[in-house]
Amino acid sequence: MEETRQIRVSGFAGQGIILAGAVLGHAAVRDGKRVAGSSSYGAAARGGSCRSDVVISDKPILFPHVIEPDILIAMSQEAYDRYTRNIDRENGMVFYDQSTVSVKDIPGVKQVGVSSTELAAKELNNAQAANMVILSVMAAITEIVSQNAMISAVNENVPARFRDVNMQAVKLGFAQARTEQKHPGDTGQWQAKSGALRPVVDNDLCVVCNLCPSMCPELCISINSQKSGIEIDYDFCKDCGICVWACPKKAIKMA
Ligand code: SF4
Ligand code: SF4
Repeated sequence: MEETRQIRVSGFAGQGIILAGAVLGHAAVRDGKRVAGSSSYGAAARGGSCRSDVVISDKPILFPHVIEPDILIAMSQEAYDRYTRNIDRENGMVFYDQSTVSVKDIPGVKQVGVSSTELAAKELNNAQAANMVILSVMAAITEIVSQNAMISAVNENVPARFRDVNMQAVKLGFAQARTEQKHPGDTGQWQAKSGALRPVVDNDLCVVCNLCPSMCPELCISINSQKSGIEIDYDFCKDCGICVWACPKKAIKMA
């Protein structure tokens, strides 16, 4: 690892951005590094922009803030658009959630697409664990912290009832990074394998809150004609799992 790395984890509040930063920082300490960190929320508590900055170094950290990230994790389009502006243009890397972010070409910057929301929804039945999946893919590829240190950091920072799924998410992210093939002719993109799962709604649980139609990136969810639940247009659904994560009533599952 280079002596000092500036890492920014970003997205919207509710995606576990602050927790991801805390786990990364504690993992680095476990691996014997020096660490400084800070976090920032946007105006809205849930759904507003959010970031967590971590500086990791082998030597004493003289300036504890991230100015020009070497590594950016972007879990929302707003975060990607905002924070790629000041990423390091020579050695910078961006890890983005393929379900929520459309990328643009940024000369000098390697961009790695990770289907973290989709993977967490399909493999762990918990899209909320996408933060640990993408963080672990980043950790594995950059070798910035070890898997054992990440597991220990999850143990220290995650409430007991969510610990198991977050540990599984760490293992999933490291395994994903090891097994994926680089995309041909790549710009650094890694593709997830597509699976056979798709979102299925239980309209007995749905309270027609209209949240999932507004969150779906493909605009393929609508309120049904009886206004008693929702319908999903599978011709356009890309199985990203965001609706599963978004539903406050757990009315949608990948099945
Ligand atoms: S319905 Fe929309 S949000 Fe849900 S999995 Fe399909 S594309 Fe994603
Ligand atoms: S988010 Fe859940 S409760 Fe709200 S409309 Fe969608 S399925 Fe129904």
